[in-house]
Amino acid sequence: MAYKITLIPGDGIGPEVALATVRAVEATGVAVAWERVDAGIAAEKATGSYLPEAVYESLARTHVGLKGPVGTPVGKGHSSVNVALRKRLDLFVNFRPVRMLPGLKTRFADLPIDLVIFRENTEDLYSGIEHEVVTDVVESLKVITKTASMRIAKAAFEYSAKEGRKKVVAIHKANIMKMSDGLFLRCCREVAEGFPNIAYSELIVDNACMQLVMRPEIFDVLVLPNLYGDIVSDLCAGLVGGLGIVPGANLGDNCAVFEAVHGSAPDIAGKGIANPTALMQSARLMLAHLGERDAAIGLQKAIEAVYSEGKHLTHDTGGSAGTEEFTEAVIEKL
Ligand code: NAD
Repeated sequence: MAYKITLIPGDGIGPEVALATVRAVEATGVAVAWERVDAGIAAEKATGSYLPEAVYESLARTHVGLKGPVGTPVGKGHSSVNVALRKRLDLFVNFRPVRMLPGLKTRFADLPIDLVIFRENTEDLYSGIEHEVVTDVVESLKVITKTASMRIAKAAFEYSAKEGRKKVVAIHKANIMKMSDGLFLRCCREVAEGFPNIAYSELIVDNACMQLVMRPEIFDVLVLPNLYGDIVSDLCAGLVGGLGIVPGANLGDNCAVFEAVHGSAPDIAGKGIANPTALMQSARLMLAHLGERDAAIGLQKAIEAVYSEGKHLTHDTGGSAGTEEFTEAVIEKL
């Protein structure tokens, strides 16, 4: 029986890295019946909507999606398709493992970086509640709830307990946002009490950024509200070779959508040079989620072997290969 999986190629480099990833997944031998649906610019052109109901209908059937990035205009235009999808499907965990790939030359290549980000995915300043109070005075509402904070903290601790992780750090700005980030911290502390074997600490977000750059190897599991989680994810991607590398998963109780940390990269879209590693690694998380452990490990080993050899790397990681050459190299290893 083939797995039914919703495929959302997305905008910019999305279709390029999605095609590469579909090929890599198929090369693992796992049978997949992809349900392709469009979101973003292609969807708007075809249906008049950036996020058509067909996307939700497909995910309601399959419960699992592989998604390329979808662009959002800056300072104007339609609201984020990504945020809308995460909120409506209640994909409350954004899980982003950040690990150094073997052989990859980065500024931090000599450090054993292996950390995991748990970013709250449904609220905070992403509530989208903004208004102009009077001319030239604008308010954006930061919404933090006990429900969302408890469940992201629980997800981080439960994962740590299951995977043998030793330390969880909650990242906040509760010195300034005493009520909202204060509530987030109280929830993290309450959950931490139920996990006495896991060390719990807290860092103010600005200090956390400095510590992450100075000593990234000391971090284990990070739990953050939505906005800090977004920013710190890109910072951490920079530690291990950039946005072309780091995968992610949006997880809810009934559905999971796997996507890279990176965006639609309009500066390199259509050139055939995007690095598909981040989406391939997201697909590896997807295969593990489906219970296809051997295929997940096989795909990861194939990616690692290509990096160890260093002959077919894309330009963002110091090589000269295009998306296709890199993909062929991964498939050959599989
Ligand atoms: P970006 O992640 O698209 O690109 C930042 C830089 O990283 C660019 O120089 C880009 O070329 C490079 N890069 C990113 N992915 C790469 C890859 N796979 N291989 C090689 N290089 C890669 O961030 P941005 O430019 O700030 O955002 C562009 C658009 O993407 C915006 O509209 C934004 O809203 C959207 N976005 C979407 C998502 C998502 O769909 N989940 C996430 C982030 C940003």
